[in-house]
Amino acid sequence: MIKYNLICKNRHEFESWFSHSKEFDKLNKKKLLKCIYCDSNKINKSIMSPSIMQSKKSLNLNSTTNQELYKTKLELLKLRNFVEKNFKFVGNQLANKIREVYYNDSKKNNFYGTTTKEEEKELKEEGIDLVSIPWVEKNN
Ligand SMILES: [Zn+2]
Repeated sequence: MIKYNLICKNRHEFESWFSHSKEFDKLNKKKLLKCIYCDSNKINKSIMSPSIMQSKKSLNLNSTTNQELYKTKLELLKLRNFVEKNFKFVGNQLANKIREVYYNDSKKNNFYGTTTKEEEKELKEEGIDLVSIPWVEKNN
């Protein structure tokens, strides 16, 4: 889909969507395009319209935001890779495993997994603080 800002011979400006750029030319040649204000079929693309300027500006803003998000995501991915390499995944057994280490002073293993909010609260009450990290998807 492509959006064009159109202008009629009476300088009315409006927007219209087309499936591709050729569709505009095709419809315009057949005089099927009409101004939404005065029904004139003398329509042209309005290239210097202020709304295009504006959308360019917000596009830049968005790409800055996207870059920041992308950087943050890369950092989180690095963190995820680090955790996956150095920690053992114990799934939803995390709370039990942590208690094993905490109370029995067993082998100091690094592991990671998932806890429910409930388990997290219980552990906190027992004096065990968990660090949770945002887990980002690798493929997108
Ligand atoms: Zn018009």
